[in-house]
Amino acid sequence: MIVVMDRVAVAGAGVSGLTCGVSFAERGYPTAIFAEETGRQTTSGAAGALWFPYDAMPPEKVIPWALQTFDTLVDLARVPASGVSMIELRQFSRSGKIQIPDWAIPLGACVIPSKVAESRAFTSGFSVIIPLMDTTIYLDYLADRFVAAGGEINANVHFEKLEDVDSKFDLVINCAGIGARELVQDFELEPHRGQVAIISKVDNLSCAIVCDDPPLMYAIPRRNDCVFGGTNDLSDNLAPDPATTDRIVAECSRVLHIDKPRVHAERVGLRPYRKSGVRLERDRLRDGRTVIHNYGHGGSGFTLSWGCAGDVARIVG
Ligand SMILES: Cc1cc2nc3c(=O)[nH]c(=O)nc-3n(C[C@H](O)[C@H](O)[C@H](O)COP(=O)(O)OP(=O)(O)OC[C@H]3O[C@@H](n4cnc5c(N)ncnc54)[C@H](O)[C@@H]3O)c2cc1C
Repeated sequence: MIVVMDRVAVAGAGVSGLTCGVSFAERGYPTAIFAEETGRQTTSGAAGALWFPYDAMPPEKVIPWALQTFDTLVDLARVPASGVSMIELRQFSRSGKIQIPDWAIPLGACVIPSKVAESRAFTSGFSVIIPLMDTTIYLDYLADRFVAAGGEINANVHFEKLEDVDSKFDLVINCAGIGARELVQDFELEPHRGQVAIISKVDNLSCAIVCDDPPLMYAIPRRNDCVFGGTNDLSDNLAPDPATTDRIVAECSRVLHIDKPRVHAERVGLRPYRKSGVRLERDRLRDGRTVIHNYGHGGSGFTLSWGCAGDVARIVG
């Protein structure tokens, strides 16, 4: 018996689109990705990108998706070419005693002793080992894996509406991130703007230091450089603000007890935060084709990527 697989078109080539693309192509579906920008040019290319549930709703869906993704990323950390590694995250608070989230306890999270050097800048913190995706490697790895499974990537394609996807595709997966605001007129989406500075590797920094209390601060060592952050403001402005970069670098340097480093690059991205929660559901286009929406992951697109891609595949059956 010959099984004819649906042809699948994925709109979007950030972490959500690439992960869904890999998931469908490796299941044997003829799959093509279409996107205005791909991989490192997207919001995903500006991310930290630590595994950590942050700025995404609702928790009862976000945490299970995150934990499924965690397991897949632990496996990928054994593949050096993936750019995924396991790293100690030190998560700090600026006021009172930090609460270890329930989901972090089974992962081995523990309170950070006050003698740890960075603790002096904060009031308390917890530590947990989590996956880190080096976006300078991981997004290319996903794209290469997709192509190796027979997938096709089409860049510089702008859709006004999803019905513009070539009618030879039976199924459309919408992974447009903040672009879904215009693409499917979803005004539940808010641009949570984030700015980061890329600097050289910092001597002796082998763990990620994060504080989500204002001013938001993080220092994330990657294979060849280090990401200093950050910001989270309601704004569509994609231009880096030099004064913000100065503020980020000053705060990270203060916490790490280092001289202010030279900034190699600044990146800005719009976290696709959706007020009513991540949209992962089946719908119908005006021409009758099935669309699965998978967008609105806010500050957790990497953290939810494999869990959400798995649910998209389950919806299709
Ligand atoms: C500074 C910063 C730090 C972050 N840190 C983390 C972190 O540590 N961990 C984490 O999990 N997440 C983090 N995030 C959040 C994460 O980056 C996002 O959740 C994630 O990138 C969303 O991925 P996506 O693939 O859904 O969207 P995007 O990466 O935005 O990709 C959307 C894709 O759709 C395409 N597209 C949009 N509209 C159209 C259209 N009309 N026609 C054709 N193509 C279109 C775009 O070109 C692009 O290819 C961070 C974000 C920022 C900005």
